[in-house]
Amino acid sequence: MSRLLEKMNPQQQQGIQTVDGPVLLLAGAGSGKTRVITHRIAYLIEERGVSPDAILAVTFTNKAAKEMAERVDKIIGHSSLAKPTLSTFHSFCVRVLRRDIEALQVGGKGLTRTFAIYDETDQQAVVKSALKRLGIDDKSLKPRVALGRISWAKNHMIDPQEYFLASTNPLEEKIAHIFEIYKKELNKANALDFDDLLLETVRLLKSSGETRARYNRRYQYVMIDEYQDTNKPQYELMKLLAGDHKNICVVGDEDQSIYSWRGADIKNILDFEKDFPAVQTIRLEQNYRSTQMILEGASAVVAQNTQRKGKNLWTAREGGSLIGLYEAPDGENEALFIADRIKKYLREAGQTETEEPARCAVLYRTNSQSRLVEEALRRYQIAYHMVGGFSFYDRAEVKDILSYMKLVQNPHDSVALGRSVNSPPRGIGKTTMETLERMALTTGMSTWDAIARAIEEKLLPARALQALSGFKRLIEDARAMLGPGFAEKLAEDVEAETADDEEDVSFGFSVEAEPVETGADAAADTSFDTSFNFGFDFGPSEEISTLAAENSVDSDAAHNIGSVSFNPFAPVVLKESAASASAAARRAVANEEKELAAQEPERPAFRKAGDAATLPELIKFLNERSGYIRALEDEATPESFSRIENLKELANAAQDAQERGETLHEFLDHAALVSDADSYSAEAKVTLMTLHAAKGLEFPLVFLAGMEEGLFPHSRTFTDPTGLEEERRLCYVGMTRAMDTLVMTRARYRRRYGSDMPEASVASRFLEEVPGRLVEDLGSPAAQPQFSSSYSTPYPQRGRFGQKPGYEEGDRHYSYEDEDQSGERKAAAAPGRQMAGQQSPAKSLDNVAAFFA
Ligand code: ATP
Ligand code: MG
Repeated sequence: MSRLLEKMNPQQQQGIQTVDGPVLLLAGAGSGKTRVITHRIAYLIEERGVSPDAILAVTFTNKAAKEMAERVDKIIGHSSLAKPTLSTFHSFCVRVLRRDIEALQVGGKGLTRTFAIYDETDQQAVVKSALKRLGIDDKSLKPRVALGRISWAKNHMIDPQEYFLASTNPLEEKIAHIFEIYKKELNKANALDFDDLLLETVRLLKSSGETRARYNRRYQYVMIDEYQDTNKPQYELMKLLAGDHKNICVVGDEDQSIYSWRGADIKNILDFEKDFPAVQTIRLEQNYRSTQMILEGASAVVAQNTQRKGKNLWTAREGGSLIGLYEAPDGENEALFIADRIKKYLREAGQTETEEPARCAVLYRTNSQSRLVEEALRRYQIAYHMVGGFSFYDRAEVKDILSYMKLVQNPHDSVALGRSVNSPPRGIGKTTMETLERMALTTGMSTWDAIARAIEEKLLPARALQALSGFKRLIEDARAMLGPGFAEKLAEDVEAETADDEEDVSFGFSVEAEPVETGADAAADTSFDTSFNFGFDFGPSEEISTLAAENSVDSDAAHNIGSVSFNPFAPVVLKESAASASAAARRAVANEEKELAAQEPERPAFRKAGDAATLPELIKFLNERSGYIRALEDEATPESFSRIENLKELANAAQDAQERGETLHEFLDHAALVSDADSYSAEAKVTLMTLHAAKGLEFPLVFLAGMEEGLFPHSRTFTDPTGLEEERRLCYVGMTRAMDTLVMTRARYRRRYGSDMPEASVASRFLEEVPGRLVEDLGSPAAQPQFSSSYSTPYPQRGRFGQKPGYEEGDRHYSYEDEDQSGERKAAAAPGRQMAGQQSPAKSLDNVAAFFA
């Protein structure tokens, strides 16, 4: 028997050897589907003498494609020079289009091979100009909303005409028009967006018989992994590539379909059998990855879904350790528990020789959850790397709000100013900023001072000045919020400015007027569109393209993660702030506040006397007043929600910092240090990622964090049975990543949006769906002191975990509850913290206890 078949079960052997004609391999997680593909490739080359050139295998993520290439290399060795094509859908399409797109030209017109790939920022610009052309106010229809609809249509292969015909209301009709213009504009610009890459490849292979024939001749054997997540264009592409030879093998698992929001359709599995009547369907039933405990637990969860065919998986890896469940008092302790377990795991693994190198993963539902885990791992000095997303403090929206905070701390920080001034876009364009920067350079003042000067002396067009005033006021108001100290400092700044005025500095340059596109008097029009004329967005587009390149499956998500451009900032006039009053008045206010502060001995310990606003309050103010959250809400896409969650999580981080007694300055330093990912290489043994990104991967030890209702399943799916089933499949995907050990964790109290009182959470229904006999209670301490010693302490005190929970005398940490020997709970007398009015978490929330009993 061929060595390639030796270790395979009969069904796998069939999958490997059935190379002619269509094959549909449907099987559960860890049953060796991907292994069949890699061995099939080797088999074709070694046993059937097929040239590697003739083999194409497509998968979902670059990480998966890379792993597949490594596995194939391992099997066939580096003997052959030619390599099979192992690629993602998007990178395959780019390859085809770069070579052949000109075959789509009609009469010499059409895209050329040097086409550009538009990112989110580019797409926005096109949509904005379309809106303008149609005379649509982009407050009534947000560009991002329109883009989301266009992308949806493309993923369902609906063109503008069809969209128009199907539209049932004026808004949809408008979108159809925008879609039409958008399409033409991209054409004119010789550009494609990410969705187009697939659509154009499909169109090319459909319309040019010669091109299709060439690819069919070239790729004699085509394989697709993670087939359950293909959308319509990908399905069409697959059919075209199957050509006449129909040597197509698709493998998938309907229980792992988790991308329906991107147009993935379970129907593709059913259609396959229709489109390829000669199909040989193979099912695999043995799971080789996980222990029996893990497999049974995961199967029990997914069995709750009604929309599934159902299948039985078994594993020869009988027994195994029970699925761990840890219920932390709060999110921070949940993360510290995970870090502690990882530390132990890595230490033990370092002492024993094992075949599998020590690796583990922490999986979570939404990106924002990485923050606490990252911080805990850093405190334990454990190297980690993040897949498919930026480290929390590196995310564009987080960096943007941090820039605002830096500016609040020091308005003369020109870098922070450059980043925040037009994010979200508020009509402060490139020319304006260049002018201001030149002004600052020539006179030696900061950009902030240049702004003040420009406003005072009306050195710029009215529109720019109005936008700049709004921005300046925002920062001043934020500074004023921080209380007397800040207000006074600001007053000094203003005084210094006034002194400058008297010197009558003259500028050695002329101020260029910005082009004003409409003849209307902008100054008179307060509701003007601030985003049009100065449409320069400070978006980290490099980050976007890198991320997109790294992980093509998340390219659209990546665009959204990295992008900071959206709606205009509607000028808001809030109450007259202390900062915009005269310096003298402000000083009076400051003194008054000082006096008040002095009379107020009962301040909570975490709030420094004299401070007017806490750090989370400041962040909330910036999130909201800057228009950032509002713009993301309007956008209403899964990505924008995830970005909102990141901003809320930033407020939570600030609340934690506040409780550690950190100042604004210290908080910003901490953020800067955490985001410095230098020492945290890709070699790390710990991987952090969302459940979506974990598809197809496996790890000896897996943590599923944040198993709470509202978080996972996500609250958005509560009222949507289909969405809920998809969440459950996601849980199945997560659980089945584990080979030896699975630990699920949750926090009984979790902070929401920087609240100083964490909210009670309810255990995820998925936890309850795991049969109790499979679960080991790793503890649910009613109280656990936080490790809130300073960040310079690398290791928390030993023995905190697994110890009898308790509140340590003299410890400045707090605990939610304390438990005495009789099991009676009483509120802990923690400084600045009372749980008054809150129910005992044990009574209201311990629904998990029921199935442990
Ligand atoms: P998923 O649905 O999660 O993508 P999968 O079906 O693709 O899973 P694989 O990743 O191919 O599963 O295999 C899971 C694990 O089981 C891998 O470590 C693989 O090497 C191992 N495995 C699969 N088949 C066998 C076999 N016949 N003998 C030994 N190990 C196997
Ligand atoms: Mg797989």
